[in-house]
Amino acid sequence: MTRNSHDQMFDAELLERHPYRNAVRAGRPDTIVHVGDARTPIGGDHVATIAGPCAVEGRDALLATARGLAAMGVPMLRGGAFKPRTSPHSFQGLGQEGLELLAEARELTGMSVVTEILDTADVELVAEHADVLQVGTRNMANFRLLHALGERTDKPILLKRGMAATVEELLCAAEYILAAGNPNVILCERGIRSFEPMVRNAFDLNVIPLLRDLTHLPVIVDPSHAAGRADLVPAISMGAVAAGAHGLIVEVHHDPTAALVDGDQSLDLAAAATMLDQVELIARACGRTLDRSLREVAA
Ligand code: PEP
Ligand code: MN
Repeated sequence: MTRNSHDQMFDAELLERHPYRNAVRAGRPDTIVHVGDARTPIGGDHVATIAGPCAVEGRDALLATARGLAAMGVPMLRGGAFKPRTSPHSFQGLGQEGLELLAEARELTGMSVVTEILDTADVELVAEHADVLQVGTRNMANFRLLHALGERTDKPILLKRGMAATVEELLCAAEYILAAGNPNVILCERGIRSFEPMVRNAFDLNVIPLLRDLTHLPVIVDPSHAAGRADLVPAISMGAVAAGAHGLIVEVHHDPTAALVDGDQSLDLAAAATMLDQVELIARACGRTLDRSLREVAA
């Protein structure tokens, strides 16, 4: 089968049998996914910004980070309430209490909320509290979860690439959600496993222009889990935006040295502000706009 979307464009018969027939570009215009009450766009010429701590750790910590980001205009807050940890003895997240804190942060700042879902049993609970449901790298091939997210919610799904997943596997994972009835899927490159121990993962810049050719879905990047080091995050972000990424999801903590999870890769608020200014220049040079739309609200 050809892998060039242009050849597939108007071949209806081929499209009908295509393994990711809903996700494939096939001449379709870019999908723009709208998030939350503010209907924040992800896709097209917008460069979306999502930032926040790896995990929701408590009310004070979450609000300190959220308020700092809101003051920079960042319209979407990330934070894990259910954390998929390598060791069962590591902090697993605050669960429902974490979801409630995210919802409170949304009330107080006007930011929309992005959080990870681990289990089909939690679809309704997470959808009730969050504006975007994230599927992490470890669950990209959890087909029951993907199907449930397609069938049981129409909230946007942020689907991260599996740490050893091919592009076709990522697109077929998206297809599970689309085919089950939820058209609001955002893809995310977050680095893949490699032999190199100096970084957490190998950031795959190739897939940004590749996915933009192969699919109409928005493609964002997570430079934090790619690098595993905060100092590399601004450069990766600028490169990704220049390559055509539709947005960034970045780990930011008001005090990274005190973070319970992923402190090494978390920017502090000052570094996040500097990075946003840098990425804004790159976006503008590429004829696009970095979304800092909360700026007026938070001023
Ligand atoms: C996260 O975003 O907190 C996370 C666990 O990411 P990933 O699934 O990409 O490792
Ligand atoms: Mn993390």
